[in-house]
Amino acid sequence: ARKRLLKLKKTPAVTKDGTPITLLANIELPDDCPAALEAGANGVGLFRSEFLFMGRSASGLGNALRVPGEDEQFEQYRKAVVAMKGRPVTIRTLDVGADKPLDPTEHTALNPALGLRAIRYCLAEPQLFLTQLRAILRASAFGKVRILIPMLAHAFEIDQTLSMIEQAKLQLREEGIKYDPGVEVGAMIEIPAAALALPMFVKRMHFLSIGTNDLIQYTLAIDRVDYEVAHLYNPLHPAVLGLIASTIATGQKAGLDVAVCGEMAGDTKLTRLLLGMGLREFSMHPAQLLSVKQEILNSDLATITSRTRRILRSIEPNEIATAVEQLQSL
Ligand code: PEP
Ligand code: MG
Repeated sequence: ARKRLLKLKKTPAVTKDGTPITLLANIELPDDCPAALEAGANGVGLFRSEFLFMGRSASGLGNALRVPGEDEQFEQYRKAVVAMKGRPVTIRTLDVGADKPLDPTEHTALNPALGLRAIRYCLAEPQLFLTQLRAILRASAFGKVRILIPMLAHAFEIDQTLSMIEQAKLQLREEGIKYDPGVEVGAMIEIPAAALALPMFVKRMHFLSIGTNDLIQYTLAIDRVDYEVAHLYNPLHPAVLGLIASTIATGQKAGLDVAVCGEMAGDTKLTRLLLGMGLREFSMHPAQLLSVKQEILNSDLATITSRTRRILRSIEPNEIATAVEQLQSL
């Protein structure tokens, strides 16, 4: 079966009725790029840049924290961009803080998932954020780079982020350092408030990427890493499906690319449901990519879309689960 899948590497991801689908890879480090290419990815949809910052020893520096400097980050981003040979690389800015502290000696919040993490942390540490933005922009001179911002919920966070990107560009310009002035900026939609107030994002952003891992966590108030409530973590909850479907529809209507980059995108049991919601861009672990492509090649959008509309109107969990299963046997 694996051999049959590998043959699909160069086959374009197109539904039976001829609709092209973009399949992107989630990576943690530039070294993951060969695996992404091996799976036939159209680009990187999520480069989790925090992996460049985590697990770094502070030994020899007393208590000083060793975070990668601008040059070191630039080298890593450039490495990924070059490795992807012209395909787009979507670099997510630092998604740390709280449960993933840069400095483990710092105090731990009682509700870390609701605390100073991701973009909140970056805006509270503008020097660190500016350094990362400069490094990403410098890498954009070597290929197509997109900047993805995690955990946005407020308009002022978007505006502050965009103005920091402008500040980084201005600095580089003044220093005569090259970057792509047309670099696109997108938002992770992973807080329910963001999905519910989507026009606020659509107005300010070039593209959207739905982080279903956190969106499910925050919508259902289920800690995604707490095994005691793992049985309540349900991607098919009608509230979750409603938020995902409306984000896709509203974003696309405004002409923005909308991707899903959470685990749902790599789950073949959900491929047709997402296609039926109108999703045309999936980003996942490279190991899932060919199986998802196979599912796409066998999918007929017209049937799936009308079935999915019915699923989205349902409020009965058992009915939804059964109907999603039936999508697979179409
Ligand atoms: C998500 O929240 O769905 C996501 C893709 O980001 P992460 O899993 O890194 O939080
Ligand atoms: Mg997330």
